[in-house]
Amino acid sequence: MELQKILDYQKVDLQIYKLENELKNSAAAKAYANANISRKSNTEDAQKCVRDAEEVTVLIDRYRQNYDKIASEILGIADVLDTFEEPKEIDMFEKKIEQYKKELQSIEREMTRLSNKLNECSSKGKSCLNAVIKCNKDIAVSKSQIENLKKEMQSKVVVLMKSLAELKQTLPAEFLVKYSEIRKNHKMPVLVAFNESKKSCNGCGMDLPSSASSELVAGKLIDCPNCGRIIYKI
Ligand SMILES: [Zn+2]
Repeated sequence: MELQKILDYQKVDLQIYKLENELKNSAAAKAYANANISRKSNTEDAQKCVRDAEEVTVLIDRYRQNYDKIASEILGIADVLDTFEEPKEIDMFEKKIEQYKKELQSIEREMTRLSNKLNECSSKGKSCLNAVIKCNKDIAVSKSQIENLKKEMQSKVVVLMKSLAELKQTLPAEFLVKYSEIRKNHKMPVLVAFNESKKSCNGCGMDLPSSASSELVAGKLIDCPNCGRIIYKI
């Protein structure tokens, strides 16, 4: 395996890597990612508003039933109140009615609180849904900007990929697997020159064992024990 061939391969690949990063770090790609995150959180918030509103509605229904039940009991008692003759009887029922009234007032207060909560759920839910709609627009815009960027890069990428494919033919498969694994970890460039004066890796700066220098003299490639890059010496 000729070192020059490997370095030629890397030279082309670095240009592809640069274009990939340009795309990944573009304002459009960042806007796309942010809009997706925002859409997800707003969708979740809107769903929570719906769940909360459902719970509140169930409670309101329950209070309403209690309210109707008590109100009709009061009316029933009031209707027959004048048929009572014993003052004790009348006293007792008046007290009961008072008690019912207090219960009704407490239910009313609770219903007002729940009704306010329902309004809150509704307005928060609406604003979340509006945010989702805005995110969808932002996503569509940034997506098309990304597509445009890709189109602009297309001609360059095609030439580079063709050249890379040709160079690939000249290199051993196991080397290419190793190279792509290191590349995946964003250790670019994958191949770095041995730093003769510092006896270190030019990728991460790690000092290399004294044996490295003699090993490299033989034209061999070695792996950096720290960053995993492949070290060469010309
Ligand atoms: Zn290193």
